[in-house]
Amino acid sequence: DELVSQIAAGEVVERPASVVRELVDNALDAGASQVTLRLVGGGVRLIAVEDDGSGIPQAELAVALRRHATSKITSLHDLESVATMGFRGEALAAIASVSELTLCSRTGDQASAFALAARSGELRPAARGVGTTVEVKELFFSTPARRKFLKSDATELAHCVEAVRRHALARPDVGFAIWHEGRLVQQWRACGPLHDAQALARRLADVLGEAFVTQSLALEHSAGPLTLHGRAGLPDAARARADQQYCYVNGRFVRDKVLQHAARSAYEDVLHGQRQPVYALYLDIDPALVDVNVHPTKIEVRFRDSQAVHQAVRRAIDHTLAAPRA
Ligand code: ADP
Ligand code: MG
Repeated sequence: DELVSQIAAGEVVERPASVVRELVDNALDAGASQVTLRLVGGGVRLIAVEDDGSGIPQAELAVALRRHATSKITSLHDLESVATMGFRGEALAAIASVSELTLCSRTGDQASAFALAARSGELRPAARGVGTTVEVKELFFSTPARRKFLKSDATELAHCVEAVRRHALARPDVGFAIWHEGRLVQQWRACGPLHDAQALARRLADVLGEAFVTQSLALEHSAGPLTLHGRAGLPDAARARADQQYCYVNGRFVRDKVLQHAARSAYEDVLHGQRQPVYALYLDIDPALVDVNVHPTKIEVRFRDSQAVHQAVRRAIDHTLAAPRA
Protein backbone atom coordinates (compact mmCIF):
# COMPACT_ATOMS: atom_id res chain seq x y z
CA ASP A 1 0.00 0.00 0.00
CA GLU A 2 2.95 2.28 0.84
CA LEU A 3 4.37 1.49 -2.59
CA VAL A 4 1.07 2.13 -4.35
CA SER A 5 0.82 5.50 -2.61
CA GLN A 6 4.36 6.39 -3.56
CA ILE A 7 3.72 5.53 -7.20
CA ALA A 8 0.55 7.60 -7.15
CA ALA A 9 2.54 10.38 -5.49
CA GLY A 10 4.85 10.41 -8.49
CA GLU A 11 1.98 11.54 -10.67
CA VAL A 12 0.76 14.25 -8.34
CA VAL A 13 3.93 15.32 -6.56
CA GLU A 14 6.83 16.15 -8.77
CA ARG A 15 8.42 18.92 -6.74
CA PRO A 16 7.63 21.32 -3.88
CA ALA A 17 5.47 23.46 -6.17
CA SER A 18 3.14 20.48 -6.76
CA VAL A 19 2.60 20.24 -3.00
CA VAL A 20 1.96 23.97 -2.83
CA ARG A 21 -0.62 23.74 -5.61
CA GLU A 22 -2.53 20.92 -3.91
CA LEU A 23 -2.46 22.49 -0.45
CA VAL A 24 -3.60 25.88 -1.71
CA ASP A 25 -6.37 24.15 -3.70
CA ASN A 26 -7.54 22.60 -0.42
CA ALA A 27 -7.38 25.90 1.46
CA LEU A 28 -9.51 27.57 -1.21
CA ASP A 29 -11.97 24.67 -1.27
CA ALA A 30 -12.33 25.17 2.50
CA GLY A 31 -13.41 28.78 1.91
CA ALA A 32 -10.24 30.47 3.14
CA SER A 33 -9.99 34.25 2.87
CA GLN A 34 -6.29 34.31 3.77
CA VAL A 35 -3.66 31.75 2.78
CA THR A 36 -0.16 32.01 4.23
CA LEU A 37 2.79 29.89 3.14
CA ARG A 38 6.01 29.37 5.06
CA LEU A 39 8.79 27.67 3.14
CA VAL A 40 12.28 26.54 4.02
CA GLY A 41 14.90 25.40 1.53
CA GLY A 42 12.80 26.19 -1.52
CA GLY A 43 10.01 24.10 0.00
CA VAL A 44 12.08 20.91 0.17
CA ARG A 45 12.76 21.17 3.90
CA LEU A 46 9.40 22.67 4.82
CA ILE A 47 6.14 23.75 3.24
CA ALA A 48 3.53 24.99 5.69
CA VAL A 49 0.22 26.23 4.33
CA GLU A 50 -2.04 27.96 6.79
CA ASP A 51 -5.64 28.94 6.06
CA ASP A 52 -8.62 30.41 7.87
CA GLY A 53 -11.09 28.11 6.15
CA SER A 54 -13.72 25.83 7.66
CA GLY A 55 -11.24 23.42 9.26
CA ILE A 56 -11.36 19.63 9.53
CA PRO A 57 -13.27 18.07 12.45
CA GLN A 58 -11.02 16.15 14.85
CA ALA A 59 -12.75 12.89 13.99
CA GLU A 60 -12.03 13.36 10.28
CA LEU A 61 -8.33 14.20 10.43
CA ALA A 62 -7.29 10.60 9.89
CA VAL A 63 -9.87 10.11 7.14
CA ALA A 64 -8.53 13.13 5.24
CA LEU A 65 -5.15 11.41 4.94
CA ARG A 66 -6.58 8.21 3.56
CA ARG A 67 -6.28 7.46 -0.12
CA HIS A 68 -9.38 8.28 -2.17
CA ALA A 69 -10.93 10.02 0.81
CA THR A 70 -12.65 13.18 -0.33
CA SER A 71 -15.38 15.15 1.37
CA LYS A 72 -16.13 16.93 -1.87
CA ILE A 73 -18.01 14.46 -4.04
CA THR A 74 -20.03 11.45 -3.02
CA SER A 75 -20.74 9.81 -6.37
CA LEU A 76 -19.27 9.54 -9.83
CA HIS A 77 -22.23 11.51 -11.03
CA ASP A 78 -21.02 14.51 -9.01
CA LEU A 79 -17.95 14.65 -11.26
CA GLU A 80 -20.22 16.18 -13.89
CA SER A 81 -20.79 19.21 -11.73
CA VAL A 82 -17.65 19.41 -9.62
CA ALA A 83 -17.17 22.98 -8.42
CA THR A 84 -14.24 22.44 -6.06
CA MET A 85 -10.57 22.33 -7.03
CA GLY A 86 -10.16 18.90 -5.48
CA PHE A 87 -12.34 15.82 -5.86
CA ARG A 88 -10.08 12.79 -6.08
CA GLY A 89 -8.99 12.58 -2.47
CA GLU A 90 -5.47 11.73 -3.54
CA ALA A 91 -3.33 14.71 -2.71
CA LEU A 92 -2.89 14.47 1.06
CA ALA A 93 -2.32 10.70 0.95
CA ALA A 94 0.18 11.05 -1.87
CA ILE A 95 2.08 13.90 -0.20
CA ALA A 96 2.11 12.08 3.15
CA SER A 97 3.70 9.04 1.50
CA VAL A 98 6.75 11.03 0.42
CA SER A 99 7.21 13.42 3.34
CA GLU A 100 6.65 14.01 7.06
CA LEU A 101 3.16 15.49 7.02
CA THR A 102 1.28 17.03 9.92
CA LEU A 103 -2.31 18.15 9.74
CA CYS A 104 -3.40 20.71 12.32
CA SER A 105 -6.95 21.96 12.25
CA ARG A 106 -9.81 23.48 14.17
CA THR A 107 -13.44 23.90 13.16
CA GLY A 108 -15.72 26.67 14.39
CA ASP A 109 -17.43 24.46 16.95
CA GLN A 110 -14.27 23.00 18.49
CA ALA A 111 -12.75 24.57 21.59
CA SER A 112 -9.26 23.62 20.53
CA ALA A 113 -7.29 22.51 17.53
CA PHE A 114 -5.85 19.03 16.99
CA ALA A 115 -2.69 18.03 15.23
CA LEU A 116 -2.24 14.65 13.58
CA ALA A 117 1.18 13.40 12.51
CA ALA A 118 0.62 11.25 9.43
CA ARG A 119 3.51 8.84 9.87
CA SER A 120 3.19 8.09 13.59
CA GLY A 121 -0.54 8.59 13.80
CA GLU A 122 0.00 10.64 16.94
CA LEU A 123 -2.89 12.99 17.71
CA ARG A 124 -2.47 15.84 20.19
CA PRO A 125 -4.30 19.05 21.09
CA ALA A 126 -2.80 22.18 19.58
CA ALA A 127 -3.34 25.92 19.70
CA ARG A 128 -4.65 27.81 16.68
CA GLY A 129 -7.74 29.66 15.48
CA VAL A 130 -10.34 28.18 13.15
CA GLY A 131 -8.76 26.82 9.99
CA THR A 132 -6.08 24.41 8.91
CA THR A 133 -2.32 24.26 8.74
CA VAL A 134 -0.68 21.51 6.74
CA GLU A 135 3.03 21.06 7.34
CA VAL A 136 5.10 19.06 4.89
CA LYS A 137 8.69 18.37 5.93
CA GLU A 138 11.58 16.72 4.13
CA LEU A 139 9.89 16.07 0.82
CA PHE A 140 11.15 12.90 -0.91
CA PHE A 141 13.32 12.00 2.13
CA SER A 142 12.55 8.32 1.54
CA THR A 143 12.82 8.48 -2.25
CA PRO A 144 16.35 9.80 -2.90
CA ALA A 145 15.99 9.16 -6.64
CA ARG A 146 13.23 11.74 -6.82
CA ARG A 147 15.02 14.13 -4.53
CA LYS A 148 17.98 14.12 -6.90
CA PHE A 149 15.85 15.66 -9.63
CA LEU A 150 15.15 18.75 -7.59
CA LYS A 151 16.87 21.96 -8.63
CA SER A 152 18.41 24.67 -6.46
CA ASP A 153 16.41 26.14 -3.59
CA ALA A 154 16.03 29.36 -5.57
CA THR A 155 14.55 27.51 -8.55
CA GLU A 156 12.19 25.41 -6.44
CA LEU A 157 11.10 28.56 -4.59
CA ALA A 158 10.38 30.28 -7.91
CA HIS A 159 8.17 27.36 -8.94
CA CYS A 160 6.35 27.54 -5.61
CA VAL A 161 5.73 31.26 -6.07
CA GLU A 162 4.44 30.62 -9.59
CA ALA A 163 2.03 28.00 -8.23
CA VAL A 164 0.61 30.53 -5.77
CA ARG A 165 0.55 33.23 -8.45
CA ARG A 166 -1.73 31.02 -10.58
CA HIS A 167 -4.17 30.73 -7.70
CA ALA A 168 -3.91 34.40 -6.80
CA LEU A 169 -4.82 35.50 -10.32
CA ALA A 170 -8.10 33.61 -10.06
CA ARG A 171 -8.98 34.71 -6.52
CA PRO A 172 -8.73 38.47 -5.98
CA ASP A 173 -11.05 37.96 -3.01
CA VAL A 174 -8.39 36.00 -1.11
CA GLY A 175 -5.18 37.32 0.44
CA PHE A 176 -1.93 35.41 -0.07
CA ALA A 177 1.44 35.68 1.63
CA ILE A 178 4.61 33.69 1.00
CA TRP A 179 7.47 33.56 3.49
CA HIS A 180 10.80 31.91 2.72
CA GLU A 181 13.18 31.31 5.60
CA GLY A 182 11.65 34.11 7.63
CA ARG A 183 11.58 36.61 4.78
CA LEU A 184 8.32 37.84 3.23
CA VAL A 185 8.76 37.03 -0.47
CA GLN A 186 5.32 37.96 -1.82
CA GLN A 187 2.17 39.40 -0.41
CA TRP A 188 -1.02 39.93 -2.35
CA ARG A 189 -3.78 41.45 -0.26
CA ALA A 190 -7.41 40.65 -0.92
CA CYS A 191 -8.69 43.37 -3.24
CA GLY A 192 -12.41 42.86 -3.71
CA PRO A 193 -15.11 40.39 -4.56
CA LEU A 194 -14.70 37.56 -7.02
CA HIS A 195 -16.04 38.45 -10.50
CA ASP A 196 -15.50 42.16 -9.93
CA ALA A 197 -13.56 43.59 -12.89
CA GLN A 198 -11.98 46.28 -10.71
CA ALA A 199 -10.77 43.77 -8.14
CA LEU A 200 -9.40 41.55 -10.89
CA ALA A 201 -7.52 44.44 -12.49
CA ARG A 202 -6.06 45.32 -9.08
CA ARG A 203 -4.94 41.74 -8.50
CA LEU A 204 -3.48 41.43 -12.01
CA ALA A 205 -1.50 44.63 -11.42
CA ASP A 206 -0.26 43.39 -8.03
CA VAL A 207 0.78 40.00 -9.35
CA LEU A 208 1.91 40.65 -12.92
CA GLY A 209 2.88 44.31 -12.67
CA GLU A 210 1.10 47.59 -13.28
CA ALA A 211 2.05 47.49 -16.98
CA PHE A 212 0.04 44.34 -17.54
CA VAL A 213 -3.12 46.29 -16.75
CA THR A 214 -2.27 49.65 -18.32
CA GLN A 215 -1.31 47.85 -21.54
CA SER A 216 -4.36 45.61 -21.76
CA LEU A 217 -8.10 45.91 -22.27
CA ALA A 218 -10.91 44.43 -20.25
CA LEU A 219 -12.56 41.54 -22.06
CA GLU A 220 -16.13 40.38 -21.64
CA HIS A 221 -17.97 37.93 -23.86
CA SER A 222 -20.65 35.33 -23.65
CA ALA A 223 -21.79 32.66 -26.08
CA GLY A 224 -24.44 30.17 -25.07
CA PRO A 225 -23.29 28.04 -22.13
CA LEU A 226 -19.97 29.82 -21.78
CA THR A 227 -18.82 33.22 -20.63
CA LEU A 228 -15.40 34.78 -20.83
CA HIS A 229 -13.83 37.62 -18.96
CA GLY A 230 -10.34 38.86 -18.27
CA ARG A 231 -7.88 41.12 -20.02
CA ALA A 232 -6.29 41.03 -23.45
CA GLY A 233 -2.91 42.72 -23.90
CA LEU A 234 -2.69 45.48 -26.47
CA PRO A 235 -0.77 44.45 -29.59
CA ASP A 236 1.75 47.22 -28.96
CA ALA A 237 2.27 46.29 -25.32
CA ALA A 238 5.92 47.13 -24.83
CA ARG A 239 8.28 44.26 -24.07
CA ALA A 240 5.55 41.91 -23.01
CA ARG A 241 6.91 38.93 -21.12
CA ALA A 242 6.53 35.78 -23.14
CA ASP A 243 5.16 33.78 -20.23
CA GLN A 244 2.31 36.10 -19.32
CA GLN A 245 -0.46 33.95 -20.67
CA TYR A 246 -2.88 32.74 -18.07
CA CYS A 247 -5.95 30.66 -18.84
CA TYR A 248 -8.56 29.52 -16.37
CA VAL A 249 -11.52 27.21 -16.77
CA ASN A 250 -14.09 27.47 -13.99
CA GLY A 251 -11.49 29.05 -11.75
CA ARG A 252 -8.86 26.41 -12.38
CA PHE A 253 -5.54 27.28 -14.01
CA VAL A 254 -5.14 25.24 -17.17
CA ARG A 255 -2.72 24.83 -20.00
CA ASP A 256 -4.98 24.16 -22.91
CA LYS A 257 -4.22 23.90 -26.62
CA VAL A 258 -7.68 25.02 -27.70
CA LEU A 259 -7.55 28.22 -25.66
CA GLN A 260 -3.94 28.96 -26.56
CA HIS A 261 -4.49 28.36 -30.23
CA ALA A 262 -7.61 30.50 -30.28
CA ALA A 263 -5.78 33.36 -28.58
CA ARG A 264 -2.79 33.05 -30.87
CA SER A 265 -4.96 33.10 -33.97
CA ALA A 266 -6.82 36.18 -32.73
CA TYR A 267 -3.50 37.98 -32.33
CA GLU A 268 -1.99 36.66 -35.55
CA ASP A 269 -3.02 39.59 -37.74
CA VAL A 270 -2.01 42.25 -35.24
CA LEU A 271 1.25 40.80 -33.98
CA HIS A 272 2.39 39.22 -37.27
CA GLY A 273 3.80 36.35 -35.24
CA GLN A 274 6.63 38.55 -34.02
CA ARG A 275 5.77 38.48 -30.35
CA GLN A 276 3.79 36.45 -27.87
CA PRO A 277 0.50 38.02 -26.89
CA VAL A 278 -0.20 38.54 -23.20
CA TYR A 279 -3.56 37.81 -21.70
CA ALA A 280 -5.47 36.54 -18.69
CA LEU A 281 -8.56 34.65 -19.79
CA TYR A 282 -11.20 33.27 -17.48
CA LEU A 283 -13.64 30.88 -19.07
CA ASP A 284 -16.72 29.84 -17.18
CA ILE A 285 -18.64 26.95 -18.64
CA ASP A 286 -21.25 24.44 -17.55
CA PRO A 287 -19.14 21.78 -15.74
CA ALA A 288 -20.96 19.07 -17.68
CA LEU A 289 -19.37 20.42 -20.88
CA VAL A 290 -15.78 20.07 -19.72
CA ASP A 291 -13.87 17.11 -18.34
CA VAL A 292 -11.32 18.13 -15.70
CA ASN A 293 -10.42 14.57 -14.82
CA VAL A 294 -8.01 13.87 -17.68
CA HIS A 295 -4.67 14.64 -16.03
CA PRO A 296 -3.31 13.77 -12.55
CA THR A 297 -2.64 17.42 -11.78
CA LYS A 298 -5.82 18.64 -13.51
CA ILE A 299 -3.80 21.11 -15.58
CA GLU A 300 -5.39 19.80 -18.77
CA VAL A 301 -9.07 19.74 -19.60
CA ARG A 302 -11.17 18.37 -22.42
CA PHE A 303 -14.05 20.36 -23.82
CA ARG A 304 -17.08 18.59 -25.16
CA ASP A 305 -17.34 21.18 -27.94
CA SER A 306 -13.86 22.54 -28.43
CA GLN A 307 -14.82 24.31 -31.64
CA ALA A 308 -17.38 26.45 -29.84
CA VAL A 309 -14.81 27.31 -27.17
CA HIS A 310 -12.21 28.16 -29.80
CA GLN A 311 -14.62 30.41 -31.64
CA ALA A 312 -15.76 32.19 -28.48
CA VAL A 313 -12.21 32.97 -27.37
CA ARG A 314 -11.24 34.19 -30.80
CA ARG A 315 -14.28 36.42 -31.04
CA ALA A 316 -13.85 37.75 -27.52
CA ILE A 317 -10.29 38.86 -28.25
CA ASP A 318 -11.14 40.16 -31.73
CA HIS A 319 -13.97 42.29 -30.33
CA THR A 320 -11.87 43.55 -27.45
CA LEU A 321 -8.99 44.62 -29.67
CA ALA A 322 -11.31 46.18 -32.26
CA ALA A 323 -13.31 48.22 -29.76
CA PRO A 324 -12.61 51.95 -29.75
CA ARG A 325 -10.22 52.71 -26.94
CA ALA A 326 -11.40 55.21 -24.40
P1 ADP B 1 -9.54 16.32 -2.34
O1 ADP B 1 -9.13 17.75 -2.28
O2 ADP B 1 -9.48 15.77 -3.74
O3 ADP B 1 -10.86 16.04 -1.66
P2 ADP B 1 -7.22 15.88 -0.66
O4 ADP B 1 -6.38 14.67 -0.44
O5 ADP B 1 -6.57 17.09 -1.22
O6 ADP B 1 -8.45 15.45 -1.57
O7 ADP B 1 -7.91 16.25 0.72
C1 ADP B 1 -8.67 15.25 1.39
C2 ADP B 1 -9.75 15.87 2.25
O8 ADP B 1 -9.17 16.55 3.38
C3 ADP B 1 -10.61 16.93 1.56
O9 ADP B 1 -11.68 16.34 0.85
C4 ADP B 1 -11.07 17.78 2.73
O10 ADP B 1 -12.20 17.19 3.34
C5 ADP B 1 -9.93 17.68 3.74
N1 ADP B 1 -9.03 18.85 3.69
C6 ADP B 1 -7.79 18.89 3.18
N2 ADP B 1 -7.21 20.10 3.32
C7 ADP B 1 -8.12 20.87 3.96
C8 ADP B 1 -8.15 22.26 4.40
N3 ADP B 1 -7.10 23.07 4.19
N4 ADP B 1 -9.29 22.69 5.02
C9 ADP B 1 -10.33 21.86 5.23
N5 ADP B 1 -10.37 20.57 4.81
C10 ADP B 1 -9.28 20.07 4.19
MG1 MG C 1 -7.26 18.52 -2.70
